[in-house]
Amino acid sequence: MSGIAPDRSGPAAAYWDALDRGRLCFQRCWSCGAAQLPAREECTTCLSPDLAWEAAAGGARLISWVVYHRAYHDAFADMVPYNVAVVELDEGPRLISNILAPNDTLRIDMPLRLELGRRFDQAIPQFRPA
Ligand SMILES: [Zn+2]
Repeated sequence: MSGIAPDRSGPAAAYWDALDRGRLCFQRCWSCGAAQLPAREECTTCLSPDLAWEAAAGGARLISWVVYHRAYHDAFADMVPYNVAVVELDEGPRLISNILAPNDTLRIDMPLRLELGRRFDQAIPQFRPA
């Protein structure tokens, strides 16, 4: 479907390539040790360009979420109501994701486990209550 493919330009390319190979990866700074997502050309903590990719172990917790009751793109019409969540990996980086659980069971700080899914012919990181 058009208009919903991820932007694979720049440093994000390695992120999506890793997902295609079954791993959720984030960037680790060689200079200060900070971990970050989304991918950037430099460390957001110390501005060093020396970044390496590291695979997430899979543990995370739920920071916040919203529930969409209306589809803002036809591709999502069969999914409403669905949640869009901010998840914090055990390693520190946060990402926007989706929790594979009934929306009324979501709780702040609930422990989560990574579960890679597929949507629109693209591997995506999703989470399930741990
Ligand atoms: Zn750094």
